Amino acid sequence: MSAYQSKHARSLVAAKRQGGKTYTEQSHPLDQKAVPHRRRTSAKRGHRRGIATLLVCLVLLIAVAGGLLWYGHGQVAKSVPSIPSAAQSAPVTTILPAAVPAAVTADQVPYARYYYYDASRAKRYVAYAAKHPKLDPSAVVWQVDVDLDYDVFTHVESVRDPDSDTPLINKHFKLAKDFVPKHLVSLDSAQVRSNVAAAFEQLAAAASGKGLSLTATSGYRSYAYQEGVFDNNAAKYGKANAYVAVAVPGFSEHQSGLAIDVNGLLRGEDSETSGVGGWLHQNAWKYGFIVRYTKANRALTQYTYEPWHIRYVGKAAAKTMHDQKISTFEEYWVKYVEYQAPA
Ligand SMILES: [Zn+2]
Repeated sequence: MSAYQSKHARSLVAAKRQGGKTYTEQSHPLDQKAVPHRRRTSAKRGHRRGIATLLVCLVLLIAVAGGLLWYGHGQVAKSVPSIPSAAQSAPVTTILPAAVPAAVTADQVPYARYYYYDASRAKRYVAYAAKHPKLDPSAVVWQVDVDLDYDVFTHVESVRDPDSDTPLINKHFKLAKDFVPKHLVSLDSAQVRSNVAAAFEQLAAAASGKGLSLTATSGYRSYAYQEGVFDNNAAKYGKANAYVAVAVPGFSEHQSGLAIDVNGLLRGEDSETSGVGGWLHQNAWKYGFIVRYTKANRALTQYTYEPWHIRYVGKAAAKTMHDQKISTFEEYWVKYVEYQAPA
């Protein structure tokens, strides 16, 4: 801010210098106009005409000189306000404090420093932090940014950019009923987007090199199909259980064509550390996939642990999540998709 002010002060000095120059330039032409008149009258005086003529000339001279002086004064008076002065610097000094984010109260300060902070959610950050006192302020901000302070299905938003590799689809962000991914191709007994199929073939080839077999058993599921899956599950286990075990139609990543269920993966707690599940946890990111519902993020995703469900996000996103130790896609989405990290 001081650099700005000193720059402003320098421009003020420069402007005053310019103003001074203008002042003298304007008075010179007036003087030059006045001089010929004086020369003309002194020439007339040289002819020694009658005293009456001299008096008339003197009166005229006084009138003309007076008029010119009055005109010149007017010009000078007009030129003065054009010099940037206190009158113009005043608005600048009042603009500067206003540039600081307004209305950040003391209890909001810990959250306002993050680039994914949104002033419209300021009160929600504070309320969410009060409910989760051990949560890091940065986590408070990104979790509220994806509506995790609301109960699932209560504040539903439309999935943004559903054709990209990185749409967020969860119990707060819903796909349109008629959304069907483009470029669906067959993969084993399933269907996925063509770029997802190509990436999965590389993933499966790498696993095969380690003696592990990966097969896609489920990929794209239409809204109508998911309706059937959910209704069957609800009839069998009750609606409350179905909500945590199966995606409600529109809220399933399978409708995006980006999710794959891998065969032969049990729900066992050792699935993250051994066998195919363990290998996926260690290596899926290299091929653009993440294990979407882990043991660690159950509370955030509101899904039970699903070692078999992998989600394609693209190699760059998966690498960032791996390098930044981001284990939940919601966090990545806030920090790198919804908001742009400063360079
Ligand atoms: Zn799945």
